[in-house]
Amino acid sequence: MMNNESDELIELLRHAREYTRFVGELGVETVDEPSATIERAPVEPEPSMLFARHSPSLRSQPIESSASSQPLSTAKAPTPPANASADSLFGDLAESQPTFSPPTETLSEIWNEIGDCTRCGLCEGRTQVVNTHGNPKARLMFVGEAPGADEDAQGKPFVGRAGQLLTKMIEAMGMKREEVIIGNVNRCRPPGNRQPTLEEAAICRPFLFREIATIKPDVIVVMGNTALRNLLEAREGITRVRGKFQDFRGIKVMPTFHPAYLLRDPSKKRETWADLKMVMEYLESVREKRTI
Ligand code: URA
Repeated sequence: MMNNESDELIELLRHAREYTRFVGELGVETVDEPSATIERAPVEPEPSMLFARHSPSLRSQPIESSASSQPLSTAKAPTPPANASADSLFGDLAESQPTFSPPTETLSEIWNEIGDCTRCGLCEGRTQVVNTHGNPKARLMFVGEAPGADEDAQGKPFVGRAGQLLTKMIEAMGMKREEVIIGNVNRCRPPGNRQPTLEEAAICRPFLFREIATIKPDVIVVMGNTALRNLLEAREGITRVRGKFQDFRGIKVMPTFHPAYLLRDPSKKRETWADLKMVMEYLESVREKRTI
């Protein structure tokens, strides 16, 4: 009993420390009272606290593939019971059948085919095509909407202010940006940073899907409504769907807020951190299964 209580206390302290580090890294100066976090923490830790352990580095590992197929689903993951173990928490998810066939093409081949794309009108206002960037063997992928001015100028996704925040989020998860892979639904900057139209998104996203089939990450974090709706065809918005694992052809998808939105409303960082913690827990649980 004593051991259980001290384990719980250690987990609570770990959780508080992780959260403080996260908000600190994100530049939130008002949450500099770790005791406030601890006081609010329930005596029984939340399920997420039970599995707060995460390796400092969640590097890419080989991923098994299977050829069976499954329709898109936006079914909600069940709320885990307070006493759930990491295994029971994600057991159903880990066993879902991947539906992507073994990769038949490389990212370079896909990018060659995209070329100096003129398939939609966005080509007229862009400087360059901004392809997905990062570790081709990443276990974790982030998907946003479309390049902004900085991305259009530099040719890489998420290098502006929202990108810097995304980097901090990745680092708060104990990973380096180079370990993950980052892309967008659309690869050309829409004029005035407007949302891509349905048609523009529909023309561009097949390339993203092909990249996902090649990379086969364990988890995709979709950031904001455009990414959510284009990967999952969800009717509900990000506010309702965030924090609940979804399925994209056998790959776990975690919807969360877009970093640009977090810049406008920093109070949403807390929920975002909860979503990212679930991703860390899932990655950890899959890693543990692989090493058994
Ligand atoms: N916002 C996005 O959705 N993508 C980027 O690459 C940059 C900002």
